Amino acid sequence: MKQEQQKQNVKKGNPLTGFLVGLLIVLFFNGLIVPLFSNKEIVMTDYGSFIAKVDSGTVEKVMIKNNQIYFTAIDGNKDIQTYQTGETNDPQLVNRLLNAKSPNEGGKILFTQVVPEENSPILNFLLMWILPGLLFYMFWRFASKNIQSKLGAGGNFMSFGTKGAKIYADSDIKTTFADVAGQDEAKETLKEIVDFLHNPKKYAEIGASLPKGALLVGPPGTGKTLIARAVAGEAKVPFFAISGSEFVQMFVGMGAAKVRELFKQANEKAPCIIFIDEIDAIGKKRDNMVGGNDEREQTLNQLLTEMDGFDGRKGVVILAATNRPESLDAALLRPGRFDRRIQMELPDLEGRKAILSVHLQKVRHDDVDLDIVARSSAGSSGAELANIVNEAALRAVRMGRNCVSTDDLEESVETVIAGAQRKGKVVSRHERKIVAYHEIGHALVAAMQSHSAPVHKITIIPRTSGALGYTMQVDSGEQLLMSKEDLFNRIATLTGGRTAEELVFQTVTTGASNDIEQATKLARAMVTRFGMSEKYDMMGLETLNNAYLGSDTSLVCSADTAADIDREVLQLIKKAHEKARKIIEENMEILHAASTYLLDKETITGEEFMRIVEDAKKVC
Ligand code: ADP
Ligand code: MG
Ligand code: ZN
Repeated sequence: MKQEQQKQNVKKGNPLTGFLVGLLIVLFFNGLIVPLFSNKEIVMTDYGSFIAKVDSGTVEKVMIKNNQIYFTAIDGNKDIQTYQTGETNDPQLVNRLLNAKSPNEGGKILFTQVVPEENSPILNFLLMWILPGLLFYMFWRFASKNIQSKLGAGGNFMSFGTKGAKIYADSDIKTTFADVAGQDEAKETLKEIVDFLHNPKKYAEIGASLPKGALLVGPPGTGKTLIARAVAGEAKVPFFAISGSEFVQMFVGMGAAKVRELFKQANEKAPCIIFIDEIDAIGKKRDNMVGGNDEREQTLNQLLTEMDGFDGRKGVVILAATNRPESLDAALLRPGRFDRRIQMELPDLEGRKAILSVHLQKVRHDDVDLDIVARSSAGSSGAELANIVNEAALRAVRMGRNCVSTDDLEESVETVIAGAQRKGKVVSRHERKIVAYHEIGHALVAAMQSHSAPVHKITIIPRTSGALGYTMQVDSGEQLLMSKEDLFNRIATLTGGRTAEELVFQTVTTGASNDIEQATKLARAMVTRFGMSEKYDMMGLETLNNAYLGSDTSLVCSADTAADIDREVLQLIKKAHEKARKIIEENMEILHAASTYLLDKETITGEEFMRIVEDAKKVC
């Protein structure tokens, strides 16, 4: 197959092939040894034998070429034989040859030296400079053509060596809005876009033009990529998906060219959807920092130009996704570009239930109590919920069952939150006792306060995250607003573990480090962001950055105030700690009884714990 192709190439008279063949012939001739004297084969011999033959007067002709001596001599049978030997640096050679006898007519040896022919300067130039360049160019053309043809229809979007915008035919995208659970507002907005793509005329008749671009904004894992695919799946139009980072890849100056190509393609294929995932990679604010990223700015400028340039009524819709909207360039967000913003928030209780049931459809399951799973996974994103369902299925298989149960789901919620159980980890008796008292301390303070979520589970089985135990509180409903009291009680609950240790063991351990971190964060937020301190009233002292990615904060106040904030925070935490101490001191019997019970069982439910609490109350 391959050979045939090569032959065809030659027949077609590919100029390169012709050139190469000519060149090879030239090269070949230059290096070729020319057996001048006879067509008999050449016999190799040594220099000594050569001199001996010269001296004996049997040598006819001698030729020196390329450091080799070729000579003919008459052998024993009176035949003429050609010999070859290496040339040595023999200054006597010419004299010897002149003086020697020979069977030739004149009695003299005929001898000559062939000076190797130098290539002409033009040929040298061609070989040294033009040929490598030409070969490289041909290879480059060939390679880029090959990649293009592999990409099929979308091929000419490509530039050499990079992955381009993929084109999905209608049938390629099976995702629909049914696969996206919750996120009803986002779906509502996007349905309008789908309708527009189906039926652009309806909108054109009135003279309405749809927003050119919609920006999907939200924390990671909330289904932004998923919903964009669903739009394409519903609209059944070509879907150009490209990630922002793909624009700024490898070759300088290619980003802008790619954007141009992308829009050219999209215009040809309209109606269609362009989806730019993680657009912050190119859409970051332009600034006049020295050594700014020129390549990225060019790409961004090109994107801005293209978005202005195309006709909104033609049916090209641009979707983009990001979880860092605050870092985007203002020019991207102005009307006429990404003027519609679609917020994708973390799912609420109902949303979590919906997402869980969408993903449960893919696994075999018993009657599952979705409510409890959804409530215990508060704060999880869609991606985490999908992961929880999958972990549950894996657990069911591990346990030799063929159905996912509520238990599996609850356990995998904990696995996703706190890491897997580490049954093998050795914890000494004394340490287990400390952990048990610590956890019951949390639970007790929580149970004795009116504004805190009920205890759902207490465990002292170590986890891979490093936790030696934990107390899980699950809200019965969904709370959108937290009052000052709620937050204060939370802090008190967080200090409860350490308090129990202090009261029972008269010392403290490192086990409370996570509690300390959380309590401090909460107290700080109360003072600086929620206006919950007497002293600073409603003054904002901190701003939130990167709301969707970890939410770090930066202070916006003077150094004096900063120092004073620390004092306020400390006061708040001390007050909460004091409250926890009082609660536990008043309920020492419950602490002992529950801790002993927990030590024995390792894991207890909220009901078991509350039964101990109620029993103790009855006794009193
Ligand atoms: P993002 O792009 O917002 O970071 P993705 O769209 O990539 O998140 O979501 C990752 C995965 O999480 C999806 O493939 C899907 O399985 C799951 N998921 C996220 N949100 C939802 C949702 N609302 N409904 C169903 N599945 C979801
Ligand atoms: Mg994504
Ligand atoms: Zn703790």
